[in-house]
This record gives sequence, C-alpha cells and structure tokens, in this order.
Amino acid sequence: MTNKKLVAGNWKMNGTAADLAEARAIAAKVAGSAGAGVDVALCLPATLIERAGRALPGFAIGGQDVRAEKAGAFTGDISAQMLVDAGARLTIVGHSERRAGHGERDADVKAKAEAAVSAGLDVILCVGERLEVREAGAAIATVAAQLADSLPDSAARLTVAYEPIWAIGTGKVPSVDDIAAMHQALRARLVESFGDAGAAVRILYGGSVKGSNAGEIFAIPDVDGALVGGASLTAADFLPIVEAARGH
Ligand code: PEP
Repeated sequence: MTNKKLVAGNWKMNGTAADLAEARAIAAKVAGSAGAGVDVALCLPATLIERAGRALPGFAIGGQDVRAEKAGAFTGDISAQMLVDAGARLTIVGHSERRAGHGERDADVKAKAEAAVSAGLDVILCVGERLEVREAGAAIATVAAQLADSLPDSAARLTVAYEPIWAIGTGKVPSVDDIAAMHQALRARLVESFGDAGAAVRILYGGSVKGSNAGEIFAIPDVDGALVGGASLTAADFLPIVEAARGH
C-alpha cells in the first residue's frame, strides 16, 4: 500500500510574528502546484498558532505537544481542546526533546495521543533510539517496543515519526538500509496492533532531512514523508523537501 506523503515542519521554540512571512511563503507555494499530491503542515510555537491560522486559511497548522488532561491546575501546559480552539489541526506527541527534557514516558505519550485524537486533532507520534542503543544493535527492538507502549487504542488520525535521536539536528542520517529496516519493523508492529488500518498509518522519517537528501529518503519503502526540524524554518530550505515528496 502506498500512502500519500506528509511533510511536516516542527519549528520547536523558534519564531515570532516576524517569522510568519516564512510560513506564508511556504503556504502560498503549497496552495499552488508545490502541494499537489503531498500533505504539508507546520507545527508552530503555541503563540503563533492562532495568528498563523488567520494568516494562512486552509493551511494545516499544528502544535508541538499537548497535556493529556482537558483542563486544570497545570501551569504552562496546553490541552488538546486549547489547540483546537486556537485553530490547530494536528499536534506532535512524544518528541525526543519532550521525552528527554520533560521526563515523558511511553504511557504519558499514549495518554497525550488519545487526548489529542479525542479532541479532533491528527497526531504525529515520535519514537527513536539513542546512539548507544543503535551501536549496541538494539535499535529495532527498542523502538518497536517504544511504539507498542506509546500507541493510542486506535489508528484513527495517527501518524508515526521515526526519529533517531542522534540524527536530530546533527546532520547525521542513518543508512538507507537502516531506515528501511526500521520502517518495515514499525509497519509490522502497526499492522499487528491495528490490522489493515495499520497499513494506512503514515510512518515519517525525521532527523536532518534536507532538500539534498529528501529524495533518497522518500524512495525508501514505508517512508511516508518526513518530520523536519531545522530545515522547516525557511521556505528556501523547506520547499525543496516538499518538492522531493511530490516525486514519490
Ligand atoms: C526534529 O527535531 O523533529 C527534527 C527532525 O529535527 P532536524 O530536522 O533539525 O534534525
């Protein structure tokens, strides 16, 4: 089964109103021919979601995390309902920077994914191994287990992103064979959990994707797109990745 590719940008803690010009330039090209046959989204800082939604009608804007609870005494956190209210259509959960920096465990990620889907958001659920795990030959077993423990109860609205932690923001990318083996294993895990619906869950690759390597990565079986950090911050860097996805 071939899934339509998704190219999603993750701006992380970057961007103020002045940077919406880059999002506008991306959305304008995507609304034209650049977006044909590819889904494109930008996961922005929460402070920009509503403004971006107003400035870029029709373009998919997302958040970068959610709290599992609907409301309450959780200073600084954002619920899925708040993201929807601000105009977000999707959110990332389980990014390695949240897992490492905020102590989020697989069970937390599962709860966040379920809360986001219940609120009507699409979810990009991230998994990935540390370098020591890859070097010890345990990457596939570790990431497959991480996925199994983080998965929501249903495949609805779900996208998975395989992001080796050692490849994020480093310029390092796993070999084509290693990406292929991981995506094949994650696909098997998704089909085991969800049957046919597991075949339709998109599996993105993330970690130092650029215009120069995107074509090769998108040609790998079961790579259904990319989650892009640094190269999503400007139209000049991001649009060639979207363009590469169109060809596959
Ligand atoms: C990320 O953090 O999700 C990511 C893929 O970052 P980068 O593209 O900068 O490696």
